[in-house]
This record gives sequence, C-alpha cells and structure tokens, in this order.
Amino acid sequence: MAFKSDEYYMSIAIELARKAASEGETPVGAVVVRNDGFIAGKGRNSRERDRNALCHAEIAAIDEACRTLGGWRLCGCTIYVTLEPCPMCAGAIINSRLDKLVFAAADPRSGSAGSVADIFGLGYDHRPEIVPGIMEKECKELLKDFFGELRRKNRKMSGIKTVEVKTSEQVKKVAAMADEIWHEWFPSIISVEQIDYMLDKFQSESAIENQLKNENYRYFIVMKGGEYVGYTAVRPDSDGRLFLSKIYIKKEHRRKGYGKAVFEFLKEICRENGLNAIWLTVNKHNDDSINVYKKCGFKIIGEDVTDIGSGYVMDDYFFQLDV
Ligand SMILES: [Zn+2]
Repeated sequence: MAFKSDEYYMSIAIELARKAASEGETPVGAVVVRNDGFIAGKGRNSRERDRNALCHAEIAAIDEACRTLGGWRLCGCTIYVTLEPCPMCAGAIINSRLDKLVFAAADPRSGSAGSVADIFGLGYDHRPEIVPGIMEKECKELLKDFFGELRRKNRKMSGIKTVEVKTSEQVKKVAAMADEIWHEWFPSIISVEQIDYMLDKFQSESAIENQLKNENYRYFIVMKGGEYVGYTAVRPDSDGRLFLSKIYIKKEHRRKGYGKAVFEFLKEICRENGLNAIWLTVNKHNDDSINVYKKCGFKIIGEDVTDIGSGYVMDDYFFQLDV
C-alpha cells in the first residue's frame, strides 16, 4: 500500500458527501487515512436521519478509525473533510491526535479552523497541521447545488400561488385580510386605536387603490389551493431596491413555510426587474417578525421614528436583504 495524493482522498470524501446529499443531508464527507495510505475510517453527515446533533461526518470517520485501528490515538493519520470543521469536530480532531487536517471549502457559519474562530490556534496540547482549500471548488458547488435544490423543493412543496391584485374585488379581499390579520397580530405591539388608524390610512380599500394607481405599489394575494392564505405588497424603488411594504400570512397558515416561499417569489421579482435588494421597515417591538426576517437573511441597516400623524409614530428598524 502506498499513500496517494490529497486529491485522491478528498475525492473519496466528496463521494461520501454526495451520498449524504442523496439522503437529504447537508453534503459533508470525511475520510481518515493512515500515512501508509490505509483508509481507516469514512463518515458522512447523518444528522437528519439519526436525528442527532453529534452525527457529523468527521465524528463518524474518527469513530470508525478508532475502532478499525484499535485505539483512540490517531497519530500518523490525516483527516480529509469536504467542509471546514465546526467547533465540535475541531475538538474531536484535537482529542484524537490526528496529525493533519485537510479540508476543501471554508464554512463562514461555523468553521473553526479560522473562519469563525481558530480553535487549533488556541494553544491546546495538540495542534494538527492544517491544509485548507483542496478541491474547494467542487465542494462549494456541491453545497450550492444542494441548497438550491432544497429551496426549489421547499417552494414546490409549499404549493402556494401568488395572484397580482388588479380588480376592486381583489382590493376588497386584501383590505378584509388586513383588518383580520392586523387585529390579531398587532395588539401586543401597538394600541388598538393605532391599529385602526393605520388600517384606515394604509390598508383601507381606498388607500390600497391609491397606492396601486399613484404610488407604484404592487399587491399580491397568496393562495394555497383555493384558500386565501395572506398577502404581500411591494414597491420597486428607483435606487434599484424593492421596498417590501407588507407581508402577512393568516394565523392558521403560519409555520408552514409559506412566508419563506413568498420571499423566494419576491427574490424572483427582483431578478426579473433588475433589482439588487429587498428592504423593509419593522416595528422595533415586533420580535416575531424580526426573527423571521433575520432567519431569511435580512440585516439591520438603520432605524428611524416616523411621525404618521394624529400623535402616532412608527418606531422602526430598516432591514435589507441583498439578492
Ligand atoms: Zn462538525
């Protein structure tokens, strides 16, 4: 047996990552190789299948290698992994005394070999040699394809339809939904008097008609089957951004992924119209909505207090998502 190239072993890790993807898992694969070329352990991410946060590719590969080689010390071995290890796996690599870590793609979200933190540089008693970037492009593409496919599937599964508001009948429907949803959603955030004032000013039939005719707004009703699920309103701005004015899902239809599907729809509107970002304002105390926006990748870009008349103000954050 002879040691082959880093690329050779990384290709095996990539095959394992592909297998994980085919099982619906985030594609990550790992291989532990002894310096004479003997493959001591293989692993792939199986967090979903095993419903277990510990089931990362590196942990599985190290586990198998320890059993194959009959000891916890993996001195003289290298681990090849398609993605920069998380803190747990970085810890496992230190604890198993692996000589060397070779990884492909950096992980800006939880990479612990330099991206978020450099656990290996903290001064623990064992420090493996680290080689980043081997077959990086292939692994990045694998992840990108996987998440792209996942988004398409989610949208398809959510099965929503968006219908652009054109008729006064549709305007009436939106105003009715606004009245229902706002009175259910906002009482914990603003007074009922302010809700009524704002509904009249912004979401009455005449207000919506005016926005459509004179203010460049577009309204879309969100439907699932034959049912009205919610609505969204947007306004393309001349600075190249899409202002997301309203996105509301009725109470009984929340937590089904419809909101996320609407965001995907809005991103498509941006792409179709050459817009490069979606921005919105949200009340600073509207914690649930803020969490949803953050989860969807929005970032705070500012804040402001707007006087909307009659002694009411809107105390808002500005959020933006680059498309
Ligand atoms: Zn990990």
